[in-house]
Amino acid sequence: MGDSEITIARNYHVGAAGRLVMDTLPLTGAYTTYAVQETSPALPDYVTDSAASGTGWATGFKTSNGRISTIAGSTGVSPLTTILELAQRAGLRTGNVTTAELTDATPAVLNAHVNERACQGPANMAGCAVYKKEVGGPGSIAEQTIDHHVDVLLGGGRQRFAQTITGGPHAGKTVIQSAELQGYNLVYDEVGLSAALAGKRLLGLFNNGNMTLEWTGAQAAPFPGSGPQVCTEGQRELLTNEPSLAEMTTKALELLEGDDDRDGRPGFFLQVEGASIDKQDHVENPCQQIGETIAFDEAINVGLEFAKRHPQTLIIVTADHAHTSQIVPVVSASEAFPRPGFLSTLFTHDGAKMTVNYATRAHLQSQDHTGAQVRIAAQGPQAANVAGVTDQTDLFRTMARALGLMR
Ligand SMILES: [Zn+2]
Repeated sequence: MGDSEITIARNYHVGAAGRLVMDTLPLTGAYTTYAVQETSPALPDYVTDSAASGTGWATGFKTSNGRISTIAGSTGVSPLTTILELAQRAGLRTGNVTTAELTDATPAVLNAHVNERACQGPANMAGCAVYKKEVGGPGSIAEQTIDHHVDVLLGGGRQRFAQTITGGPHAGKTVIQSAELQGYNLVYDEVGLSAALAGKRLLGLFNNGNMTLEWTGAQAAPFPGSGPQVCTEGQRELLTNEPSLAEMTTKALELLEGDDDRDGRPGFFLQVEGASIDKQDHVENPCQQIGETIAFDEAINVGLEFAKRHPQTLIIVTADHAHTSQIVPVVSASEAFPRPGFLSTLFTHDGAKMTVNYATRAHLQSQDHTGAQVRIAAQGPQAANVAGVTDQTDLFRTMARALGLMR
């Protein structure tokens, strides 16, 4: 969700002079997102993936692409302590919410440590032999996520948790069965989520893979591109029983809030990811990318409404990296020379045409992340630390101070 993705969603949904909810946070800065190569000395890797960038803000340390809260270059089990782990140790409640699989990189960096992001379930451990439970390791991302006893876990990726554990005390059981034995309530749809009560840990697995997209529309295409088009909204609601990101955020806050303000207990840490902004950028689909950005914006609104009632809440809105999509001059089929890349033209809220271009890879070959700095916006205690130009790793310290974990 770089500046391009935010501006595309704003132009389309509320117009160029409109403002998204995320635009209303009072303090804004830019932050750098680069990863490091596994060279000595470590050189920058200017284009990060979500594993290295998530490790940066979750632990305060830079690592190399593909690593989940482990040190660049290490071959053994070498965890970096995460902000969620520090919060747990201090007695705070914790939550992790995403529209991706719960074992995908961004949620994983908070409650798992593994050398390779692909090691999502016990059957996916080819690249992570020393992490397997049967050799005394902590297991796959799914197993570690449950074993960490995070209070609220909501997202997709049921396929990973349905896999069978191959070592340790729960060998032969699925990760879901292990979760039940460790005090989790399981929910699988919107109705189950809204009925879930406080008092037990909650694991919501709403899709086998990534959660269903909110909007649909035509993919970008070679010159002169697809469109002009208007996006089709309301797909998730029409086709599925999955909750929205805003609904997941509402429930997570309800369960994590407890009665903190009245009994003086120390609060909570919650991560909420709108994951498919990135995933739809990769597949050159502007409508689906915009729909996910708006769904994330609605989740931010839930957070801001909560903060009105709890003004001691720090809210941070940021991205893990910039991406491909660019707003380019409106394309015309009569242009003398074809444009590079893949294009789609949309009719925006303004009634104007906007052409979006994707051109970091060949068509349908998964467009790339890019290396530009991204926005970080905030409100609440310690929010002023996001102003100016900072690095992704600085966010770890900002959050740690706001939670009272670092002075
Ligand atoms: Zn990506």
